[in-house]
Amino acid sequence: MPETRDMSVKTRLRWEHEDGTLCVAGHTADLICAEGGGPVRQRPENRPPVWPTLAALVDWLNTANGSGERETSLRLLKLVEEAGEVASAYAGAVGQNPRKGRTHTYKDVADELCDVALTALVALHSFVPDPEGHFAARLAHVSARVGVQASTEETP
Ligand SMILES: [Mg+2]
Ligand SMILES: [Zn+2]
Repeated sequence: MPETRDMSVKTRLRWEHEDGTLCVAGHTADLICAEGGGPVRQRPENRPPVWPTLAALVDWLNTANGSGERETSLRLLKLVEEAGEVASAYAGAVGQNPRKGRTHTYKDVADELCDVALTALVALHSFVPDPEGHFAARLAHVSARVGVQASTEETP
């Protein structure tokens, strides 16, 4: 896939270099500054609030499709579909199929991994009344099992 440059003003304003300076140059498909500023990332203040946004997505889906057993099953199936897209994007990013060559980037793989995560979190809403709390408790459980604990201290 050729390197593409995202020139939309809206998107441009949402990206910064690793040192926190605004990237106004646009970026390549692999999220590298088009003018040599190195890797870029989305500015934290532009990130949507994760759980309220997921709740809004669930409301939107419930309104359109209902929330019966069939719909719940399809949301679980969607997880399998998205997992397949991760595999496909990775194979395409490393050019595993000689006939096709490189058809994807690592950004595509990252996007698909995000799709898996958000699809799982949407489906989680069908099974527990407090998905955010349930996820936090599960994360604490898994991390405690291996003795890992994130520090909440600010690093300068
Ligand atoms: Mg996807
Ligand atoms: Zn830049």
